[in-house]
Amino acid sequence: MRSVLLLDTSAFIVGYEVVDVDMEHYTVPAVGDELREGAFPRLRYDNAVHSERLRVVSPDPRFVFEVKNAAAKMGEEGVLSETDVQLLALGLHLRDEGFEPIVVSDDYSVQNIADSMELGFKSLATQGIRRRFEWVTYCPGCHRTFRAPQVENVCPVCGTGLKRKPGKKVKATGWVASSGLDQKDEGV
Ligand SMILES: [Zn+2]
Repeated sequence: MRSVLLLDTSAFIVGYEVVDVDMEHYTVPAVGDELREGAFPRLRYDNAVHSERLRVVSPDPRFVFEVKNAAAKMGEEGVLSETDVQLLALGLHLRDEGFEPIVVSDDYSVQNIADSMELGFKSLATQGIRRRFEWVTYCPGCHRTFRAPQVENVCPVCGTGLKRKPGKKVKATGWVASSGLDQKDEGV
């Protein structure tokens, strides 16, 4: 089964960059809604979506129902936010489609319920997560790349407006396996 990572809101706040991690990422629309337009976490989220390394998917309602049931049984019902519920439900949804979802969250209740539903989970250790790629400025016209900003952000060779893209991909290392789960860390 193919492992996929499910990101909660805090991942974008602490600086998680999907381009640094060579795995498929998923999240729910409510996560984007929680991030203020124009703020860095939102830009990070938007970049992730545009990079096509992050898929934003709404879970089927039957999985939302299933998560709420599981939470109620564990007395965690009032603790989970609607976003948490959606994210966990997406975990069940993706598992139903044959993936092996790993929920990335530092929220104890989210981890607890993920565990009870036999979803993988991981903590996001803020320490060690860095935006370690460098932005590369490039010209969509003549395909030159530039390390330094250019005058008026146009290509000095052909005059096309410059764009930015993440440069060298570096693996993130700020991961810890969560209690009781022996997740493989290769490739993460
Ligand atoms: Zn050019």
